[in-house]
Amino acid sequence: MIAIYPGSFDPVTNGHINIARRSAAIMERLIVAVLDNPHKTPLFSVDERVAMLREVFCNDSNIEVDVFSGLLVSYAGMKGINAIVRGLRGPDDLQNELPYAIWNRQLSLGLAKPLETMYFTAEPAFAHISGSIVKEVAAHIYQGGLDDKIISQAVPAVVLTALKDKYSASRMQ
Ligand code: ADP
Repeated sequence: MIAIYPGSFDPVTNGHINIARRSAAIMERLIVAVLDNPHKTPLFSVDERVAMLREVFCNDSNIEVDVFSGLLVSYAGMKGINAIVRGLRGPDDLQNELPYAIWNRQLSLGLAKPLETMYFTAEPAFAHISGSIVKEVAAHIYQGGLDDKIISQAVPAVVLTALKDKYSASRMQ
């Protein structure tokens, strides 16, 4: 089975990495795909997000990193993907996810491989982590010159450095 793990990954967190590796362990191939969404203003550019993801997964032989825009189903059809991987941190994630899963299933029925959405439950140690909270807390920590231990537990080293660079630079201004 070839699966896609789509998301904004702004930035990639230890929660995302956990879901990617657990799903890749039972798939032939996993494509971690950054959604290039023109309606959102991310902290990290698509190129920065892709570079961080590629560094994180450089030793995972069946995980690759790509970018897509537009309909997920069109990208999936082009790549021969048959499953979508998503992570569930709690009931809100499920509530938000369900309509997308139903739409994606319906939209994909004409494809050679109609899509299934597969959910992986968050590891309790990571269930409180989201890209947006990480950014919010990191901004306060780096702009206030505080200890970043709590951020280092939530993101990989490459992201920690990138967050520090972004927010320490805004502190200087
Ligand atoms: P976020 O919600 O953190 O901004 P994304 O939009 O990139 O992240 O989410 C991509 C997918 O990863 C979604 O299915 C989301 O539920 C899941 N996810 C995000 N953070 C975690 C986490 N800490 N543990 C498990 N799954 C997660």
